[in-house]
Amino acid sequence: MAGTGWTPHNLNVMNCAFCKGDIEEKTITYIAEYRDRVVIIENVPAEVCTQCGEKFIRPEVAEKIQRLVWEQPSPRRSTEVPVYDLAEVA
Ligand SMILES: [Zn+2]
Repeated sequence: MAGTGWTPHNLNVMNCAFCKGDIEEKTITYIAEYRDRVVIIENVPAEVCTQCGEKFIRPEVAEKIQRLVWEQPSPRRSTEVPVYDLAEVA
């Protein structure tokens, strides 16, 4: 899952795998992309590095997200997401 901005997390790791910074429990807004559709999931429990901002998501949470992205039930609400293509920027 490269480029999604999160790394599956082993619960035994209490420090950031990258910079060894402290990890803080937070809820984040997760943005997933599936079949050219962008899905926004709010209130995702994650551990966030206070130093480099890397997000760690527990496997059971990642599984839940994956199920949601695949099944795409009726969302709670919809929003328009602006999409840009950097290749078109002069
Ligand atoms: Zn870090």
